[in-house]
Amino acid sequence: VLQKALGQHLLVNRDSLRGIIDAAELLPTDHVLEVGPGTGNLTVLLLERAAAVTAVELDSDLHALLEDRVRRIGLSERLHAIRGDFLKTPLPRADALVANVPYQISSPLVRRLFSLDPETAPSRSVLLLQKEFADRMVAQPGTSAYSRLSVTCSLFADVRMALHVPPSHFRPPPKVESAVVVVRPKPLPEAFEDVDFHEFESMLRDCFTGKNKTLRSLFLRRSFAARCLFREQAPVTPAQASVRRATSTGRSGLDPADIERMRERLAAVLDAAGVAQQRPNAMPLEAFLQLYGAARDMGLRWT
Ligand code: SAM
Repeated sequence: VLQKALGQHLLVNRDSLRGIIDAAELLPTDHVLEVGPGTGNLTVLLLERAAAVTAVELDSDLHALLEDRVRRIGLSERLHAIRGDFLKTPLPRADALVANVPYQISSPLVRRLFSLDPETAPSRSVLLLQKEFADRMVAQPGTSAYSRLSVTCSLFADVRMALHVPPSHFRPPPKVESAVVVVRPKPLPEAFEDVDFHEFESMLRDCFTGKNKTLRSLFLRRSFAARCLFREQAPVTPAQASVRRATSTGRSGLDPADIERMRERLAAVLDAAGVAQQRPNAMPLEAFLQLYGAARDMGLRWT
């Protein structure tokens, strides 16, 4: 019985299954890591092309069903089926990763991929995602899907769109369109060496709160400066920060003169980075790195 809560939409269309396997460009010597194998529709095709598959499945019934299906076709020795949560399971070294997981966990999945040691991370990951999420991953500056996720992806990887998958290719069909992307991790740019990724993300979050505005008009808002000042005066954990943002009481008690001084500092940062007239929705990764560097040089942190 499929569990809706676990996002169990099985991919049943041959062309799409083949499309995913082809996108992984497997060699007969490859070890593949599969996330969310379900009943094993992709797993059996992976076992035909690769040397070994480690499959991580959360649902114990499906985990047992998968082992049984693979035993019946005589390929058990090359499958290592793990019952567990992919997000928490220690991962083996693998040449390629293939995942068709519930769309609710797309963000943590991508985050986990980018956090893997580049030395041992799969050289390509083939991900079946909600199309809208896939569009954001591959979006170029100046297009409507360009977002924080696009910038983060361009930092860590080359991401390309491989194929579109309509709802009718699944049982039961999901409500949304799907797409497959191929993610190939790349070395971090030199300019990123001293960057604290959490701070960088926090800066991106701030920038994309007004993605069609110029950075100047966004950064020089009093509320924006107040937030920066507040962060500086009361460093908090990200969880506390979001509570304070939600309740907004944390901002009271800031001195208006301090806020003005922060606005001047922010203006100076934008000038130093040469991005005051740029709009986040059209800024390439390099421009965000410049902004981050200028802020850090002038003592402004996004902690
Ligand atoms: N890969 C199969 C296919 O294409 O037919 C099944 C896809 S189904 C959309 C997603 C699968 O991921 C389900 O079998 C579900 O139980 C499993 N799953 C959900 N969350 C998971 C997690 N955190 N870790 C591992 N597997 C998960």
